[in-house]
Amino acid sequence: MTYLYDDPAAFAEDALAGLCDAYAHLLVQVPGGVVRAHRDAPKVAVLYGGGSGHYPAFAGVVGPGMGDGAVCGNIFTSPSTDQAVSVANVATTGQGVIFSYGNYAGDVMNFGLATDRLRAEGMQVENVIVTDDVASAPVGQEDKRRGIAGDFCVYKVMGAAAERGDDFDQVVALGRRANQATRTMGVAFAGCTLPGASAPLFSLPAGEMGLGLGIHGEPGLADVPLPRAAAVARVLVERVLAERPDPGPLRAAVILNGLGATKYEELFVLWRTAAPLLRKAGVQVVAPEVGEIITSLDMAGVSLTLMYLDDELEQLWLAPALTPAWTRGAVRITDTEPTATTDHQRPQEVSTQVTAELRTAASAESRQAAAVALHFLQTAQAVLHGAETELGRLDAVAGDGDHGRGMVRGCDAAVTAAQDALEQECGVGDLLSAAGDGWASRAGGTSGVLWGAGLRAVGERLGDQDGVSDLALADAADAFVRRLQALGKAKLGDKTMLDAAVPFVQALRAGLAGGQSLGGAYSEAATKARKGAASTAELTPRVGRARPLAAKSLGTPDPGATSFPLIVEALGRSVDLGAVPDKMEI
Ligand code: ADP
Ligand code: MG
Repeated sequence: MTYLYDDPAAFAEDALAGLCDAYAHLLVQVPGGVVRAHRDAPKVAVLYGGGSGHYPAFAGVVGPGMGDGAVCGNIFTSPSTDQAVSVANVATTGQGVIFSYGNYAGDVMNFGLATDRLRAEGMQVENVIVTDDVASAPVGQEDKRRGIAGDFCVYKVMGAAAERGDDFDQVVALGRRANQATRTMGVAFAGCTLPGASAPLFSLPAGEMGLGLGIHGEPGLADVPLPRAAAVARVLVERVLAERPDPGPLRAAVILNGLGATKYEELFVLWRTAAPLLRKAGVQVVAPEVGEIITSLDMAGVSLTLMYLDDELEQLWLAPALTPAWTRGAVRITDTEPTATTDHQRPQEVSTQVTAELRTAASAESRQAAAVALHFLQTAQAVLHGAETELGRLDAVAGDGDHGRGMVRGCDAAVTAAQDALEQECGVGDLLSAAGDGWASRAGGTSGVLWGAGLRAVGERLGDQDGVSDLALADAADAFVRRLQALGKAKLGDKTMLDAAVPFVQALRAGLAGGQSLGGAYSEAATKARKGAASTAELTPRVGRARPLAAKSLGTPDPGATSFPLIVEALGRSVDLGAVPDKMEI
């Protein structure tokens, strides 16, 4: 249970503001996240990122000897592209920026898009993606694995390498080497509760544990009876060592990580058995960490991480560091003034407003269509607010429960951006592009980046001169789907929103080509979208956050596919195409 909050929707921002105030000598809050307060000399900037709710990760482990900043999304939600760009622009000292994060679709897309943007502006940028969770994909498919507590090992190695003055390519190479050497296995005992929610994201029957935990309140991959601590230690050690690189003697950095509601004493009880098992297996344990490193709000659970060490990785693992939550050795911070302001006001939101000068002068027809587009977004907004809880529930079955919240945040921001665009007399193209940028910036997460980019694609197709013909509408829907496919690389049947969006576009096109009226074709297409969404219940996810929990998701429709027809139907109603159902429920 999370007992203390003001506005549950602003929990992550409020916590970050408090953290930066408490540790003002180390951290400065900036739009999109935090950067360290002191930097003595130009160096490669190592930035971590991800959702919030994982303290000490990620903002709490920024500082000398570790990262230069953290890009902080909402709870369990990837930060937006704009946030990543913003933090990179503050943190850079001209020696390049490395983004490092766990392997989740939303993070991969948002940091990937930020990388493209920053590179286009001339910045040297690379991504080091962490894939340490052995339970989330088999050997041979390591690139599909999630990043969990092993994030910390990779961040530590890169932070230390950048601090000692390694060049950009060396820091990237060491980060990738650290990731390849790192394996984690976790178990969960109880789920976590989002601030303001009354029930946990998942629960386990008393006396059971979930094998293969996620760090976003995702349930374990399989539930088994909870044994004594010594047996849990054996499970963790055996599973991690099953992938040891060498049968001979090894050295390893080791983390026994508590997920938030598992007491330190419990961890030490587990360690009492785990450490001798590791030693017996020929593993020399180097500077172990037993405690909370990457949590999942108030989840009960524990994970064991090993990073197999060579001489260089060991040196970097042992190098000193000073951060709010974690310290190793002694680090001197200079007496110079902090490099950034320590104004404790909440920083401005990352701005996504398109400036008036950049906007194309729109035709009267297109401005009219823009007003309809705003009405559409407002209708979608009302529908999504009504569906928020249910969409969250669907996402909690095999994901992290944030789909409803993300869609609401995104659509709210899209409406605000669209209102601003209409006041500035934009055409429908600029209005929808601004709405898409607002959506992506505010929602974060996988669906946020996809909806944002999709709306922008629709805006680009419609432009600011022509009225919206039937054909243009079908083309725009097509552009939406193509942008989703290009970004997310999912295919039909992967259990994503594409399973609703693709049949929708196909039916719309076929209907119009067959001479149907727009109203008729649209209505049939909306029905196809709904059927497509419903059919995802029988599918198992092949991409996205729910993939490792494929079996658990059987029988439940995909959340992103479920929200898609709601929005399509909102459009149908707001442009008065006729023949579209009036009442929208999920
Ligand atoms: P997150 O997974 O980051 O928590 P959300 O919960 O908001 O984001 O959205 C989850 C939805 O995103 C899924 O239900 C699915 O429809 C969609 N999704 C995930 N990955 C992809 C992808 N690669 N391509 C298209 N849609 C995807
Ligand atoms: Mg989610």
